[in-house]
Amino acid sequence: MPDPIQLLEDDPRVLVRRGGAPDPEGSCVVYWMQRSQRAFDNPALNVAIEAANVLAKPVVVFFAPVPFYPHANLRHYSFLAEGVSDIEAGLARRRVGLVFRPWPEHRLLPFLDEVRPALLVGDENPMREPEQWREKVARRVKVPFWTVDADVIVPSRLMTKEHYAARTIRPRIHEQLERFLVPPGNPVARLAWKAPRALKQAAVTADFLGAWKIDRSVSAVGRIRGGSAAAMRVLRTFLTQRLTGYPERRNHPEIAGTSGLSPYLHFGQIGPHTVALAVQRSNAPKGAKDAFLEQLIVRRELAINFVRFNADYDNLESLEEWARRSLAQHARDPRPVIYDDRQLEAGETGDPLWNGAQRHMVLTGWMHNYLRMYWAKKLLEWSPSVAVAYHRAVEWNDKYELDGRDPNGYAGIAWALVGKHDRPWFERPVFGQIRSMSYEGARRKFDVDAYVQQIASERERQEPQGPSTRDARSGRRESFTGL
Ligand code: FAD
Repeated sequence: MPDPIQLLEDDPRVLVRRGGAPDPEGSCVVYWMQRSQRAFDNPALNVAIEAANVLAKPVVVFFAPVPFYPHANLRHYSFLAEGVSDIEAGLARRRVGLVFRPWPEHRLLPFLDEVRPALLVGDENPMREPEQWREKVARRVKVPFWTVDADVIVPSRLMTKEHYAARTIRPRIHEQLERFLVPPGNPVARLAWKAPRALKQAAVTADFLGAWKIDRSVSAVGRIRGGSAAAMRVLRTFLTQRLTGYPERRNHPEIAGTSGLSPYLHFGQIGPHTVALAVQRSNAPKGAKDAFLEQLIVRRELAINFVRFNADYDNLESLEEWARRSLAQHARDPRPVIYDDRQLEAGETGDPLWNGAQRHMVLTGWMHNYLRMYWAKKLLEWSPSVAVAYHRAVEWNDKYELDGRDPNGYAGIAWALVGKHDRPWFERPVFGQIRSMSYEGARRKFDVDAYVQQIASERERQEPQGPSTRDARSGRRESFTGL
């Protein structure tokens, strides 16, 4: 009989960061929850529960948000905070405890000293700082420590190197789908967690943000509510109202034609398995399912591949040689106009479409994919250099987008500004061989005036709101939250 603990360690989703046998004297298995902020369809939680069941121990989740998460501000933290009670409720159904300890009680190692686990399980995040935190823990922890790649369909390690385009990673992903696009399951802990009386923890409803010194210049988003329950409502709305029309409507910013799931995926409040399997099971036409799964799986996991394997994922140095040569040749091209930071951040350029998209992002934390491409391309055209454009794009995308600070954002910016995952196009001033986008091109693709008008009316209401656009079939105004 193979050792069941060894079988878990051998799972390609699992990375053993500190090896050894789980401590038989340990009181429990701890899941240190960071990126995968959900209690269902969560492979990291599953590994913790399965290991605990083998070891005959209970499971406790340690969730400890901190105010120094890079580039996070009130908008992001508020969304995270809205999700905590859903985590607690979902864990209770699986007989798993939650110890919620926001900063300043956030330190993992003292918590481990208190509960003395047999094994520590974490989730994974390819971004620089969270990866460093995991490495640091692995150096210091006294028990075995595994992390689980829980927020991708195909474990990102299996891609082995940086891929240069969707066309190279697509076949590698597709050949693994039969194995990995399967329900993760939701095992229940055999032994329920009982918190020792002396163990400190905050109530999940506590206003922990009030005491934190964080950037409060970006307001919380009122109408897109965080949490797994809200994520499931958004998914249901998408499946019943938008999936069928997705291929035709996804490139129309004036129509609510996409899922609106990116903030929930970013915070791990919903996982890609839940979304992909629900789409597969739906009655939508095959073309619609394929178009959506291409974005959710291939494009999203290409972005994760980029961040995982390219240390320069958030700066200019990530660019390919052809792009470097071409942009250098055009570095001194006169720009049609150069705007300063203030004009751009306030959305005060001569382009009403760009202004609308920028102001909408600042107000609501949301921008449609087509406009994100347009927005970044125009930054390249209107900045004194590619380096300045790059800095602006990363800073504002991370600051204002609710789904910012995500591999998708870094890959999207690299695509727009330095042709990452793209190919050389016809030579143009400023852009060189990087693909350009124009206002006239946008007018040919969708109803620019309707979009600009919607954004103006939304701003008039003068309060932070979710992405609210006209539903194509009913003409109703509706929000992505479906609330
Ligand atoms: P849908 O069309 O409903 O797609 C479903 C899911 O597929 C999305 O939630 C997302 O996870 C994934 N997806 C969709 N389009 C892409 C794409 N082009 N690349 C990778 N994955 C994709 N996405 C973010 O999540 N965070 C960001 O900060 C971000 N910044 C971007 C910046 C630029 C300059 C560009 C060009 C793109 C950026 N994107 C970002 C990618 C994309 O615009 C968003 O993921 C998408 O608009 C989210 O809307 P949705 O959930 O309704 O998407």
